[in-house]
Amino acid sequence: MNTPVVTRIAPSPTGYMHIGTARTALFNWLYARGRGGKFLLRIEDTDRERSTPEATAAILRGMEWLGLDIDGEAVSQFERADRHAEVAHKLLSEGKAYRCFASQDEIAAFREQARAEGKSTLYHSPWRDADESTFPDAPYVVRIKAPREGTTVIRDQVQGDVTIKNETLDDMILLRSDGTPVYMLAVVVDDYDMGITHVIRGDDHLNNAARQMLIYQAMGWPLPVYAHIPLIFGPDGKKLSKRHGATGVEEYQLMGYPASGMRNYLARLGWSHGDDEFFTDAQAQEWFDLGGIGRSPSRFDFKKLGNICGQQIAATEDAALLHELQEFLAAAGQATLDDIKKSLFTDAMPHLKERAKTYGELIEKAHFIMSSRPIVCDEKAAKSLDAVSRGILKELTPHLRNVSWERTELEQCLNTFAEEQGTKFGKLAAPLRAALAGRAATPSVFDMMLVIGRDESIARIEDAAA
Ligand code: GLU
Repeated sequence: MNTPVVTRIAPSPTGYMHIGTARTALFNWLYARGRGGKFLLRIEDTDRERSTPEATAAILRGMEWLGLDIDGEAVSQFERADRHAEVAHKLLSEGKAYRCFASQDEIAAFREQARAEGKSTLYHSPWRDADESTFPDAPYVVRIKAPREGTTVIRDQVQGDVTIKNETLDDMILLRSDGTPVYMLAVVVDDYDMGITHVIRGDDHLNNAARQMLIYQAMGWPLPVYAHIPLIFGPDGKKLSKRHGATGVEEYQLMGYPASGMRNYLARLGWSHGDDEFFTDAQAQEWFDLGGIGRSPSRFDFKKLGNICGQQIAATEDAALLHELQEFLAAAGQATLDDIKKSLFTDAMPHLKERAKTYGELIEKAHFIMSSRPIVCDEKAAKSLDAVSRGILKELTPHLRNVSWERTELEQCLNTFAEEQGTKFGKLAAPLRAALAGRAATPSVFDMMLVIGRDESIARIEDAAA
């Protein structure tokens, strides 16, 4: 039987949650969830100066918003420092690591000389094979005994086989002179203890993999499967940064992008399944595979994000969408919908959710139910209410009083009326949008009239005509 898959996301809590971290988390989540495996979260908070509880909270919020549920509790790397040190001591006792008493100054002097002589600055400690009887009573670091010959091959599922000459690897420090473990050791020990079978992470960690493998090998632990994914670039082909727009997950939430759309878009960012652009979570989980991850960096495309988010909003069930909308309003610090508005939204939702790329756009389209008389026009809408249009609107209202309030009847009534006025319905639409919603971009005139009802529609049209 195959071992069950266990993946993880291991962010460092040093700021906001980057969109790249979200994408890496998503890939790990998809891989685990599609295989009945586990997806774990480890907070890499060993850097005490840069790690903050606020950043950890932002990561947890981001994961929750994105719907990337984790198994069990988040693990704090810092809290496991004793265990990391224990492993270093085990290697020490087995002769796979050694105490190095070289001082910072000695190493710096060595490097300087090597540079001057044009030689490799890779430090070879004289303490590697020193006899214990020669040990001074002085501070020391613990270094791993790295192999000096041969090669280390990272069998990467995305990058292919990456071969590193061992002569380029130094005897990496495992424990600092104050006894604290280094990050590289912590990652390996944590991944092993957490039972991680697949390490899917940014390719900025590819070089670390070779050095981390040395620790696995020294401990006799099985290696995880590695998949180092290319970073996300901006539309100009440079590493995604603030210059290109938002890079924080929370910013996307506040811009009103739906989490389902973010998942769908981020899944496509660097991974593909044939020509499929739009898919459900269930499909993504079923299809996601390491073989589908591309080797070159993907470019963040805001337009594509909008398109996919629009499709996801349209595909979301009305009740679920209303719930999401409330969550968005709350997260954005805006007033949530009261019962009356909720009921109006429920009636209007089928018309609102078409062609809205964000919740903000959806709310904008809902302006006709969110506002009450007298409807105030924005600048664009006001332009379509000139004297001629107002005159036409005035003549329209008696017709609306007699027609039965159903879509086909209404359509017929307005078309006939337009014809009588020697024009087309299209010409009537803009003043009607202005009268009913005070906006130029709205759901269809008929949809709005059906949602707000005859009396309210006529009243608004009369207001505008006056
Ligand atoms: N903490 C690292 C980061 O935030 C991730 C390390 C890993 O995935 O092995 O980039």
